[in-house]
Amino acid sequence: MNKFPYTFDNKRYHTYNYFLKTKYHCKVAKVSLNAGFTCPNRDGTCGTGGCIFCSDSGSGDFAGHVQDSLQKQFQDISSIMRQKWPDCQFIAYFQANTNTYGTVDELKERFEPFVNMKDVVGIAIATRPDCLSDEICDYLEQLSHRCDLYIELGLQTVHDKTAQLIHRGHDYQTFLDGLQRLRQRHLDVCVHIINGLPYETYDMMLETAKQVGQLDIQGLKIHNLYMLKNTALHRLYQQRPFEMLTREQYISLVVDQLQYIPAHVVIERLTGDAPIDALVAPLWSIKKVTILNDIDKLMKEKDTHQGYLL
Ligand code: SF4
Repeated sequence: MNKFPYTFDNKRYHTYNYFLKTKYHCKVAKVSLNAGFTCPNRDGTCGTGGCIFCSDSGSGDFAGHVQDSLQKQFQDISSIMRQKWPDCQFIAYFQANTNTYGTVDELKERFEPFVNMKDVVGIAIATRPDCLSDEICDYLEQLSHRCDLYIELGLQTVHDKTAQLIHRGHDYQTFLDGLQRLRQRHLDVCVHIINGLPYETYDMMLETAKQVGQLDIQGLKIHNLYMLKNTALHRLYQQRPFEMLTREQYISLVVDQLQYIPAHVVIERLTGDAPIDALVAPLWSIKKVTILNDIDKLMKEKDTHQGYLL
């Protein structure tokens, strides 16, 4: 095939590095923050206990410490990154928990200090589709006129049966409604999906990618399911063991899925990032770089690329 266009390093998918370098012409890194929000799937609004895979940190295991101010979190993490990349610019990434679960005033208090902050090129906000009221979306739209704004929207699976099992607290239709409200306002959306959820078949996971590939989205993160100590997922596994994806299955699945994702969609991630101390399984997920290399290798062997089957 001719060289895939959206990469600087011969990959066959639209790399995040390509997107950032083309847009900002410099190294850009995300600084993961914990803004002290909670989650409606934890506080009883739509559920308690959270999604079964979620850790106590609200899936923000690499974010700053919630007891520190956002400014301190940002300074501490960005200065460590600066040691590696002295000229790096940053995206303030509101990662832990549900970052639109609050009043507009509470959101403003957290996000506004990062608009026009030195060395910050944009803001990324992770959230759930059931926390996107018109009022919140109107504020996000207004914010997007003053900074580069990226919304990270959790889906995980298009299959409602699995969503119920993992205690997601919303269905696929709710996700589609939330996405529509964001896109009506021209907000950039990166969707998160997880491969290897309990009892999902290969075909079900492929179907998630096929359906996501037909949506009006700008980015995609594909994670492998990882099981952490002291989570409901770990307890479920101990009571009713389910098959976890092998490394080979995961790599093959990701390659198949990418073929259904349009080439313009930026692939922000192709593996999960588990905190090693708490990881129970799969242990193969620790070696991220080799997984990414083997995805590249298989795409080359099959002479395929992102969007190949569209
Ligand atoms: S929606 Fe996110 S923060 Fe809330 S329980 Fe699920 S994974 Fe955790």
